[in-house]
Amino acid sequence: MYKKILVPIDLSHAEKASAMIDIAKSLAGDNLRLILVNVVDDIPNYVSIDMPSGIVESQVKAATEELNVFAEKSGIEVVVEVRNGQPASEILSVAKDHDVDLIIIASHRPGLQDYFLGSTAARVVRHAQCPVLVER
Ligand code: ADP
Repeated sequence: MYKKILVPIDLSHAEKASAMIDIAKSLAGDNLRLILVNVVDDIPNYVSIDMPSGIVESQVKAATEELNVFAEKSGIEVVVEVRNGQPASEILSVAKDHDVDLIIIASHRPGLQDYFLGSTAARVVRHAQCPVLVER
């Protein structure tokens, strides 16, 4: 049923990444088309003005390399997307662009389990146009 699956990975809390990729594999089996996405947060203008130019580009490059490691470890063909902006909006936009069947997202960063959903996960659950599986 689910073939094209999007897994957003927060690289500063990536503990759940492998578990989410395994869920995608178990749901789609040999038909899986996996998309991994990371969003490099926007830097507010009042901060970026004091920062060296090219900082976002180098963050995007580093994030792409980190996602490629997850992609290689998965042993399957993976599409890797790194975007810059507001995480939930960009995750939803990637889901739309790739017309995915399912998003698998972690409920929150580790240590914040008292909250029902993290802020990004909550926005994605609320606004996605496809099913969302929340990994707890
Ligand atoms: P919290 O508010 O506790 O940090 P979040 O909702 O931000 O929780 O994070 C939950 C999940 O949302 C992450 O494990 C990841 O799947 C996704 N996510 C959050 N931020 C990003 C990001 N910048 N890029 C990609 N995925 C993200």
